[in-house]
Amino acid sequence: MRYVSTRGTAPVLSFEEAMLTGLARDGGLYVPSEIPTLSQGEIAAMAGLSYEEIAFRVMRPFIGDTFADAEFGDLIDKAYAGFGHAARAPLKQLQPNHFLLELFHGPTLAFKDFAMQLIGQLFQAALARRGDRVTIVGATSGDTGSAAMEAFRGLENVDVFILFPHGRVSDVQRRQMTTVTEDNAHALALTGDFDDCQARLKDMFNHFEFRDRVKLAGVNSINWARVLAQVVYYFSAAVCLGAPHRPVSFCVPTGNFGDIFAGYIAKRMGLPIEKLVIATNQNDILHRTMVSGGYTTEGVTPSISPSMDIQVSSNFERALFEAYDRDGGAVAQLMDQLKSDGGFGISQGAIGQLRETFASGRASEADTSAMIKRALPEMGELLCPHTAVGVHVAQDHLGSTPLVTLATAHPAKFPDAVEAATGIRPALPERMGDLFDRPERMRRVENDLTAIEALIEEGVFA
Ligand SMILES: *Cc1c(COP(=O)(O)O)cnc(C)c1O
Repeated sequence: MRYVSTRGTAPVLSFEEAMLTGLARDGGLYVPSEIPTLSQGEIAAMAGLSYEEIAFRVMRPFIGDTFADAEFGDLIDKAYAGFGHAARAPLKQLQPNHFLLELFHGPTLAFKDFAMQLIGQLFQAALARRGDRVTIVGATSGDTGSAAMEAFRGLENVDVFILFPHGRVSDVQRRQMTTVTEDNAHALALTGDFDDCQARLKDMFNHFEFRDRVKLAGVNSINWARVLAQVVYYFSAAVCLGAPHRPVSFCVPTGNFGDIFAGYIAKRMGLPIEKLVIATNQNDILHRTMVSGGYTTEGVTPSISPSMDIQVSSNFERALFEAYDRDGGAVAQLMDQLKSDGGFGISQGAIGQLRETFASGRASEADTSAMIKRALPEMGELLCPHTAVGVHVAQDHLGSTPLVTLATAHPAKFPDAVEAATGIRPALPERMGDLFDRPERMRRVENDLTAIEALIEEGVFA
């Protein structure tokens, strides 16, 4: 299996190289050169298997000869051993034909753990074998950073630096990053918003001299291995609900389009997914794009679902690449236009293709709070605000096909919003009860590439 860039001109890589590289050198994102399919029989045979076994069967066709079967199986087992639920991604019923896929049983209480715990294992195994060491730099709106610090802390062959927008992440999110004690893990609080963090990260990847000197590697959802790890739970959930014999739809609270793009890959692999519903908060560029056919950035307005406060949705580029029939030149042109004009129009053919697979909706701040409040008496669930955006949008898509809304975080990760809506302050699970007693450690940094690079070099070469 080989990996190609969405902009068509970067070197073609193996799974291992694509995973360790992150962003392609032409500014694009790596995708598999073809999408493998599983037969109806292979999908049917997943019924009743453990999450780990399904993970092995779904991901195996993508990894080429990077890991032998036995080693890959062991790494998957290690990745999910620290989860607080035997099913890893349990399904609950909310309403008639509406289900909740709980993706918050990992060590940092958000779905990011599914991918990050696995790639921590994959990175360490691959780097140890090569005798190599890398510097991982990530940008976070809160959950990616905590999941990455947790996954990479203490690993021998990795330094990890996380850029987060100062004052714009929840206390739980910040503390999950700043209370990590291992020397190889560094939290950097940037003066700016998430899009600034993501833009500086992209600048670092495009600054080849720096990139090569520190051996920069990326674990944002631009990293293909992360998308791949997230494909698994679409299979485990759909098979529970009767796939491949019965179609299923999913509603996904979306920011950077990584999680929902994993659902698109599952569909292309042969899983009978009828619709993938994009659920946005008030920062609704993806919903507006689906409605109007034009991708136009506006400023970000902070919301109570901060992990979705994004206007430049990186993984949407992967969906565009498919919708433009894998024409890297066309995608590169759109991305140039985005940089120069702040937006672009999508061709009739491409938006038509996107609308065949994706539906969309948005939840205002009032909608989100109202859903958190309503869900407790009506569905017996205390929802995190991101999940509430999904459950709100899902109300317009209920029907004869089972609909699964992804619960992307635990309510205790966003206690202020949950308490404001319900009067109940959700408690952290027992295993992280001392989070607010641990000392914090972080560095402040301006929104300036040179300053950020200097801090990273100081940490790497200390
Ligand atoms: C990251 C995140 C999202 C958005 O996921 P994308 O892959 O960026 O679309 C939604 N909810 C929570 C809780 C998150 O951490």
